[in-house]
Amino acid sequence: MTKYRLEYIWLDGYTPVPNLRGKTQIKEFADFPTLDDLPLWGFDGSSTMQAEGRSSDCVLKPVAVYPDAARTNGVLVLCEVMMPDGVTPHPSNKRATILDDEGAWFGFEQEYFFYQNGRPLGFPETGFPAPQGPYYTGVGYSNVGPIARQIVEEHLDLCLAAGINHEGINAEVAKGQWEFQIFGKGSKKAADEMWIARYLLQRLTEAYEIDIEYHCKPLGDTDWNGSGMHANFSTTFMRETGGKDYFLALMAAFEKNCADHIEVYGPDNHMRLTGKHETQSIDQFSWGVADRGASIRVPHSFVKNDAYRGYLEDRRPNSQGDPYQIASQILKTIAEVPTA
Ligand code: ADP
Ligand code: MN
Ligand code: MN
Ligand code: MN
Ligand code: MN
Repeated sequence: MTKYRLEYIWLDGYTPVPNLRGKTQIKEFADFPTLDDLPLWGFDGSSTMQAEGRSSDCVLKPVAVYPDAARTNGVLVLCEVMMPDGVTPHPSNKRATILDDEGAWFGFEQEYFFYQNGRPLGFPETGFPAPQGPYYTGVGYSNVGPIARQIVEEHLDLCLAAGINHEGINAEVAKGQWEFQIFGKGSKKAADEMWIARYLLQRLTEAYEIDIEYHCKPLGDTDWNGSGMHANFSTTFMRETGGKDYFLALMAAFEKNCADHIEVYGPDNHMRLTGKHETQSIDQFSWGVADRGASIRVPHSFVKNDAYRGYLEDRRPNSQGDPYQIASQILKTIAEVPTA
């Protein structure tokens, strides 16, 4: 038997952006535990904005398990928060609102800043570094700073060891800004892995005295880029059947539900979706082939031979958005459009 360190990880009840929480329990297993081996657990919801009335106990229900390479016999246990009965999802549990669909695929592009002493990593103590230009996909100390790449590589190692389906990483347009992409088949897979990847990044940077700044416009109304989390999505029907009529009906549904989407696409998005810097303005909906100034970018591959088949990129979700709520709303809108 081996004593495993089980880190139960969940999202708290803060709005509009939930925080990651975690606590450890030690349990003995003969082999690396699977989901079925892992018991429900509880926590004090009054400390996480999840207490309902007088009874403050909430239930943690394991929904996914990942190896934790940073700890000896470590296990990352991603959980949904349930009511005390153990079966009713807590109101803060947005994962439970995602339609089950194995044929739904998502790819999220997470942009973020490293922050130290209240400034982006690599910024001088006062004033600003040289303007944007050389940082995006850059190399060299002056372009990516002293420690950022080391952290990014360590994070990638941890994610790959956990089995997270990272698709790539790149230095972004602003100094101190980076991106990674996660792709997953199944309506909850990429969102689950995004939350675990965020957890690993935040935990890793503790020792560096660096915070992860997810705000979509941390440098306000300046010439410094903000951060997004583009959501690429497809369903079996979109990939295998599609067609122009279906696509136009889908875009009409997205336009009609624009406000519902913006509601869950991350806070302060009006600061980022201005109609400038390759964005559509927050109160308008548009789509365009290869158009990075549209709400939804249609890849060339989608319209090839007039097939209108494949995936689409919703460019509006921001870096602070909850991938559960984003995936949930996208699938809700898709479900409104008849496929026959
Ligand atoms: P860009 O920065 O040009 O928008 P990226 O390579 O950063 O492109 O991101 C593209 C994303 O699209 C990736 O996360 C990828 O996994 C995702 N993607 C590719 N094909 C599909 C598909 N069929 N369904 C859903 N997402 C997809
Ligand atoms: Mn205690
Ligand atoms: Mn990208
Ligand atoms: Mn990017
Ligand atoms: Mn993109």
